[in-house]
Amino acid sequence: MTSARTRGRLIERLRAEGIQDETVLAAMNEVPRHIFIDEALATRAYDDVSLPIGHGQTISQPYIVARMTEVLRNGRQLGRVLEIGTGCGYQAAVLAKVAKEVYSIERIMPLHSRAAKTLRELKIFNTNLRYADGSGGLPDAAPFDGIIMTCAAPALMVVLREQLAVGGRMVLPMGTQEQYLYLIERDENGFNESRLEAVKFVPLVMGKA
Ligand code: SAH
Repeated sequence: MTSARTRGRLIERLRAEGIQDETVLAAMNEVPRHIFIDEALATRAYDDVSLPIGHGQTISQPYIVARMTEVLRNGRQLGRVLEIGTGCGYQAAVLAKVAKEVYSIERIMPLHSRAAKTLRELKIFNTNLRYADGSGGLPDAAPFDGIIMTCAAPALMVVLREQLAVGGRMVLPMGTQEQYLYLIERDENGFNESRLEAVKFVPLVMGKA
């Protein structure tokens, strides 16, 4: 149920759903999603669904992880990346396979510590996890080639996009009742925003828990 073959089937499903970036698919084939969730749910780890991870939070659906990583990468090799909303650390682990360095911020201490432990166990050492409110980004580590938010804000926080390098991309869910995935691209002239598909994320909450 948690075998390489089961994971392989998930990869085939993601490909059928339109994920084309082979680097992303290879990364997701490498990261064992069942390690990030409660044992009682492990049999569902390779279904394409979001699952509870405690504290009212969820691990994102694999399709969404793949899609956001694909949009963030845009076929490039990524240097430094920032994630807001570490959760169980699965998205961070996938990012760690496609980027040189990953910073990830979580506001709920037990999720932060468990994610750190899981990533250590998997010998993923190019992630840097922070226990903090991520709504202000991480100015001391900026600029980033990519910024990914895995919780939804009602509107764009301008301080975040300022932490993008020129040529950088930010992928985030936005909205309250209806949420959409947005892509913000920074070039020499400023920022371009495009709306992608409808999504459903847990909300961004200000302050540390
Ligand atoms: N990427 C995660 C998804 C976790 S769900 C994964 O792969 O499992 C989103 C996470 O965002 C939750 O853990 C939630 O606590 C966190 N979050 C919400 N508001 C936040 C904030 N202001 N700063 C940091 N993390 C936040």
